[in-house]
Formats: sequence, structure tokens, C-alpha cells
Amino acid sequence: MELLIRTDRVQVHLLRQLLAMHGIKAHIFNEHMQSVAGEVPLDAALPQLWLDDELDRVRALALLREHEVSRQRTGSHYCRQCREENPASFELCWHCGAEL
Ligand SMILES: [Zn+2]
Repeated sequence: MELLIRTDRVQVHLLRQLLAMHGIKAHIFNEHMQSVAGEVPLDAALPQLWLDDELDRVRALALLREHEVSRQRTGSHYCRQCREENPASFELCWHCGAEL
């Protein structure tokens, strides 16, 4: 396993789904550390996305970059069902699976 990125709770789920869509397996750790954020360094409190297979790292990083670019270009929209933020490129909500 290999640490890929630390980011906020919404992004970490989006990125995991993005990787899954490309056949890359990853796990989220530290998702519920915010409650003790005052007691640990902020960086350590952020959710972490870990790759199951470090051989996927180059491909995963390329996908992250692509994701960043398209996020800046197209922005995001909010699910009508659960109100979670989704990238404009998503057709199904990452959170509840509703059509966007
Ligand atoms: Zn939703």
C-alpha cells in the first residue's frame, strides 16, 4: 500500500471513485479524524487516499492531474438528492448514486 494524497473528505471520495472507474483500487484512511483535529497536526488529520498497489502510482497521479484540470475548467454541481458536490463530468452522484 502506498499513500497517494491527503485531501478533504469530499475530494478523497471523488478521487477514489475516479480511480475505481479506471480499475485502480484504493482505500481511504483517517476519514473521521476531524473531530480530534485540534489535538493532532492539521496535515495528519486530513483523510488519506492509499493505493492498494504502488505500481498504479504513475497512472493514479496522471488521473489526479486530469481531475484537477477538469475541475477548474468545468466546476462542479450539487446532487439534488443528497446535496453532495460532484464534478461536472460525473453522471452519477458519487455519494448516493442518483443521476445528476
Ligand atoms: Zn447524491
